[in-house]
Amino acid sequence: MNPNTFLCYNNNIKDHTLLSFSVTKKSKKVKARYKYRIYPNHIQITKLNQLFGCCRFVWNQSLAHCNQLYVNSQNQPSYVDLTKQFITQAKKELLWLKEVASTPLQQSLKDLDQAYKNLFNSCTGKRKGIKVKPPRFKSRKSRQTARFVGANYKIGQDKIYLPKVGKIKIVWSRPKPRQPSSLTIIRDSANRYFASFVVENCAEHLAKTNNSIGIDLGISTFATLSNGEKFESPKPLKKNLKKLAKFQRKFAKTKPGSKRRERRKLRVAKLHAKIKDIRTEFLHKLSTDLVRKYDTIVLEDLNVSGMVKNRKLAKAISDLGWRQFRTLTEAKCEKYGREFKVINRWEPTSQKCSCCGFKGGKKELNVREWTCLNCGAFHDRDINAAVNILKVVQPITKVETIETKVLDNPVQLSLFNEVAEGQPETEQKRTRSRRKSSPKKDASGNDVSTRLESFEQLRLFD
Ligand SMILES: [Zn+2]
Repeated sequence: MNPNTFLCYNNNIKDHTLLSFSVTKKSKKVKARYKYRIYPNHIQITKLNQLFGCCRFVWNQSLAHCNQLYVNSQNQPSYVDLTKQFITQAKKELLWLKEVASTPLQQSLKDLDQAYKNLFNSCTGKRKGIKVKPPRFKSRKSRQTARFVGANYKIGQDKIYLPKVGKIKIVWSRPKPRQPSSLTIIRDSANRYFASFVVENCAEHLAKTNNSIGIDLGISTFATLSNGEKFESPKPLKKNLKKLAKFQRKFAKTKPGSKRRERRKLRVAKLHAKIKDIRTEFLHKLSTDLVRKYDTIVLEDLNVSGMVKNRKLAKAISDLGWRQFRTLTEAKCEKYGREFKVINRWEPTSQKCSCCGFKGGKKELNVREWTCLNCGAFHDRDINAAVNILKVVQPITKVETIETKVLDNPVQLSLFNEVAEGQPETEQKRTRSRRKSSPKKDASGNDVSTRLESFEQLRLFD
């Protein structure tokens, strides 16, 4: 069984510590990935580049071979066959393959083998989720990795030893990993080097707090909790957009192959890395905070990949990192023995009154606050949705809404009228769209008309 693997960074992003959890349900073992920054010297950089190059060469050659066999409709070679042909045999002809450690070469062929297994399992339906794409050729220009396993490498006081590379300076930004099962050396596109260890631990259970929380994710406010708390996203891309555009414009003006081009390319990559780090740090802090405070965390299942297809919203949505937030929260819940739940995306969380359950119809995105026609409760749109999200999982929960007020001023009254007038129309539309989508639901099983769905989802956010 393939364990689900989640990637996430540590709270303090300056550590460049990456955590990844992989949870197997039977044993409740949690795999964590810890990432530390390493500082190789000039000679070591050359040796590492050589190692990355050899791994890439072995991968690309094997992939080309597999593709050729596929075209000739021959059987896929096994891992052992590939190793014989592209490592043992190749070393006799290509002497430079001997200059690097052999474990990373074998590991890259293992990865290729796994990539094909995933592809075939996805095609035959054994593997669920998004369709797996065939493995691709690796490029010299993108992120580079090489993996060491077993007793191949050694961990020292402030250095790590890699075979045929030497002792590389490492900064232990968090406690040293205990008995790691593998070590991956990474070079990212901003030319930073990292050592990433995989460690298997048992899940640790935090003390119960007897609190549950529903979370509504949005664009203007990143997360609204059912207790009324709101969290703003740092929106790093939006803040650096002008700078990024300038850097990219300057990069585009340079001559291909020139040194200036390389420099400017690196500048763009560094800015991208910075943007990503700011976003990840925020998501880590928020998810850790929530997992510490609450026993049960409830989120809405958002069709993010569908929503990103809307070109007007794509940039804003991608800047937030909703999906990453969900992945991180889910992984941390597993790690700390908390409950994580996701509710159906068809649940009318923004339409219902959280006090009496009256369905007030669909609301335009600019309606941030509204009053229930049935009970007169005054709602903040996001908080009301968050409360409804929690209520789907725990219907009996008594929820204290802070924002509940009785309407008494003219501004609210005018809003009241708008909602009241708009209601019959939206009701009609809703029944129409339901009629349209219901036969499709039956025909194709679980895969429902995604277009309609994503459109409805879009309307929940501005
Ligand atoms: Zn109500």
